Amino acid sequence: MIFEVEKIREEFPILKSQVGKYPLIYLDNGATSEKPQCVIDRIQKYYEEENANIHRGVHHLSQISTDNYEKARKIIQSYLNARFDHEIIFTKGTTDGINLVASSFGKLLKEGDEVLITEMEHHSNIVPWHMLVEEKGIVVKYIPLKQNGELDLSTLDELLTDRTKLLSITHISNSLGTINPIKEVIEKAHQNGTKVLIDAAQSLQHTKVDVQELDCDLLVFSGHKVFGPTGVGILYGKEELLNELPPYQGGGDMIKTVSMERTTYNDLPHKFEAGTPNIVGGIALGTALEWLSGFDMEQVEAYEHELLLYATKRIKEIEGVKIYGEAEHKSAVLSFLVENIHPYDIGTLLNQQGVAVRTGHHCTQPIMDFYSIPGTIRASFSFYNTKEEIDQFITALQKAVNMLGA
Ligand code: PMP
Repeated sequence: MIFEVEKIREEFPILKSQVGKYPLIYLDNGATSEKPQCVIDRIQKYYEEENANIHRGVHHLSQISTDNYEKARKIIQSYLNARFDHEIIFTKGTTDGINLVASSFGKLLKEGDEVLITEMEHHSNIVPWHMLVEEKGIVVKYIPLKQNGELDLSTLDELLTDRTKLLSITHISNSLGTINPIKEVIEKAHQNGTKVLIDAAQSLQHTKVDVQELDCDLLVFSGHKVFGPTGVGILYGKEELLNELPPYQGGGDMIKTVSMERTTYNDLPHKFEAGTPNIVGGIALGTALEWLSGFDMEQVEAYEHELLLYATKRIKEIEGVKIYGEAEHKSAVLSFLVENIHPYDIGTLLNQQGVAVRTGHHCTQPIMDFYSIPGTIRASFSFYNTKEEIDQFITALQKAVNMLGA
């Protein structure tokens, strides 16, 4: 073992819970992560000692609250290695961040302009672009999938045209675990004069992300998948681009002046942060990333890879199992089906034995269409999971398969 998993588990009170008579085995980390005690404590402390609205008050609590919110922005800036803290925009999450970009960047697009995405995107990185097809007559193109769950990047030269204004691509697939070579993709897109948005919803909890090293123009992620709270997320954008983009929503905080006739907009980051935000969410997201920065992400990656290899080997012992997503570079996600058994039935029987997995299309219907399947069963791991839990999962799965009589 590379680090002390049992010590890490101690920090997550929920991991001690029972589901009926079974201990919880939480393998739904792709959907959301559990929270360490320090994040839970931070939320409680905020409401007990600091609650006040930010940016508008001269009073004591408002100043404390504002300071802590802005401190969190700096923690996140440093975690992503962004150049400036005003390149960090608080959002509600990944979906909100992509919608922000689609609405704002979308205002600059003209009929016939192209947005390039991939066949493995989450719906939140497909639907906002479809909406722009309806509104503006833009064209959405797709980098195709290959059978093993990798992207066919040999198509990239042909797909990038002089009308491709944006390439929006997931770093890691939530359904297949594929880790895309985004640095090379970004480089190619930039050679074509195309801006790049990275969906990092499945990234920071598994690997180090450095926005300057990647040289991405925009990047989004959700707080709740990186050990922070729900309802908060981040849009990172290069200063120059964010300054060019028009505001997304109008309201308080995002203005410089408002007269009866017109509005002038505030500077970054406030231009994109209308209204009272999720203050405690932002602060606790800072706490979560501060906590995460205490780990060596290379060790986390190595450990999670060990879990993936172990789970893959063990699940292959079960007759009739087919794994979806066998990319060479793969995150700790195991999507599978068992021959002749509906995924939902397996999910239900696993739950009855304390094992939390996800079943369905995982908001990636084009992937399911590609494989001509309705959905998969997905076990997704975090670095607080253990090989013993994988053993228990496999035992529960074997039992479910026996009961359902494959
Ligand atoms: N993109 C990817 C790759 C995801 O995994 C998810 C969450 N499953 C999202 C986007 C959407 O994230 P959220 O629901 O937190 O906005």
